[in-house]
Amino acid sequence: MRSFVYNGLPARVVFGAGALAKLPQELERLGAKRALVLSTPEQKDSAESVVSALGARAVGVYDKAAMHVPLEIAEDARRAARELGADCCVTVGGGSTTGLGKAIALTSTLPILAVPTTYAGSEMTPIYGITEGGAKKTGRDARVLPRAVIYDPELTLSLPPALSAASGMNAIAHAAEALYSHEGNPIVSLMAEEGIRALAVALPDILKDPQNLDPRSDALYGAWLCGIVLGSAGMALHHKLCHVLGGSFNLPHAETHAIVLPHAVRYNYDAAPEAMRRIERALDSAPAPGAIYDLLRALSVPTRLADIGMKEADLERAARLAAEAPYPNPRKVEYAPVLELLRDAYRGRRPS
Ligand code: NAD
Repeated sequence: MRSFVYNGLPARVVFGAGALAKLPQELERLGAKRALVLSTPEQKDSAESVVSALGARAVGVYDKAAMHVPLEIAEDARRAARELGADCCVTVGGGSTTGLGKAIALTSTLPILAVPTTYAGSEMTPIYGITEGGAKKTGRDARVLPRAVIYDPELTLSLPPALSAASGMNAIAHAAEALYSHEGNPIVSLMAEEGIRALAVALPDILKDPQNLDPRSDALYGAWLCGIVLGSAGMALHHKLCHVLGGSFNLPHAETHAIVLPHAVRYNYDAAPEAMRRIERALDSAPAPGAIYDLLRALSVPTRLADIGMKEADLERAARLAAEAPYPNPRKVEYAPVLELLRDAYRGRRPS
């Protein structure tokens, strides 16, 4: 076995259908008495029912969370937390809402209690991002790692099937890249392979019956594992491309990850054979790039960047941005093959 460094992050996880009912006890454990509950405008009702359940332990709802954490919203939410005298943030939502909690924690050190409702995995990472003037700045800081996470699959029953599928593929992308990360190790690989397997089995069942709690629970378990590996091992070409496509071309987060993944895995196929064997075992299909593409098709997730707002004329600029400042990757990141990858993703070609 090769030498490695394993950097485990502290995490307290309360998992299970109905686990949201344990929120008051979890706040008690943190010593928090004045929780500010965060959400997007679309999930305001969920946030308000959490506030009602918390009674005197909650100071209100801040419901303006938005994709990629715009700085103005981060500052407005920080002000609200200060003015209300909050001593903790409870985030009820996907990566955008968890991200807003992280922006508050970064400057205030308020602890976060995360209640994730998608499969994005942000609740397991010390990574934050704030967008200013169209550019997203990301960083790592231990202060933004949630102090406790409540995974309640009942809260994911309302996640629309199409978004569930795209969000699940986003999670699978974290695990695929962790398997060939320069910071990978056997523990991360165990969790990554199991995360891919759990999601690949659960997602088709969710599409068949979105209200069935069993696959919803399995998918959330898979998303948890994929979030852990995202927080533990540095990401590679796939995440770089998605950051470029999301940050500079404003493409939607989960769908972009889903579409690019088979092509990024194809790019790294020969350079990361052990990772590929694990992906193939987890998906019970080979070779890995085609197997991922076929899963996207089976889940009716978009497969063409052209269909989610990318312009063909922008592909060259995207390839340049990705090749200029690449993340460490098993195969050298170069402009010409990255442009080819993006053209394939633009057209939705099945990787050979
Ligand atoms: P999101 O949080 O933007 O949610 C998408 C939409 O779905 C929102 O309108 C939301 O209110 C709604 N929604 C969420 N859960 C729902 C549910 N159960 N029922 C009904 N509606 C629901 O999307 P996301 O993909 O979870 O997060 C994307 C953001 O998270 C991006 O900004 C991304 O960069 C960030 N992210 C960060 C990390 C990290 O480690 N920092 C990791 C993953 C994602």
